Amino acid sequence: MAGEPQDDCLFCKIVGGHIPATIVRETETTVAFRDINPQAPTHILVIPKVHHPDAASLAAAEPGIAADILREAGQVAEGEKLDSYRIVFNTGTGAGQTVWHAHAHVLGGRGMEWPPG
Ligand code: 5GP
Ligand code: ZN
Repeated sequence: MAGEPQDDCLFCKIVGGHIPATIVRETETTVAFRDINPQAPTHILVIPKVHHPDAASLAAAEPGIAADILREAGQVAEGEKLDSYRIVFNTGTGAGQTVWHAHAHVLGGRGMEWPPG
């Protein structure tokens, strides 16, 4: 069923505490933890506790939780004292998505190119 934990999902395992992660914030609906392969001095992932395969599916099914992700991304940036940062939702293989559980990347602490590569 949509939203239920998936046995084969890495981020559901992090939510469940079955795989360790460096958690920086947690709310009733979200978890924020440091990316294992950081692409910037600050690189934190904000994920919903419920399983949806990408950000658009999450927003369609549970818009309140999608809003929670954005609010938490801002809180993460504030906690990291970032005045400039980027929130990224890679969606689809061609855009670099590798984990099929919705997540926002919060990246900061260095200059960023626009448009991105
Ligand atoms: P995507 O490529 O799907 O947009 O982002 C997935 C992110 O998850 C990548 O940046 C990758 O480094 C990160 N990641 C993959 N496996 C793990 C893990 O086991 N722990 C943590 N903390 N991050 C992970
Ligand atoms: Zn999942």
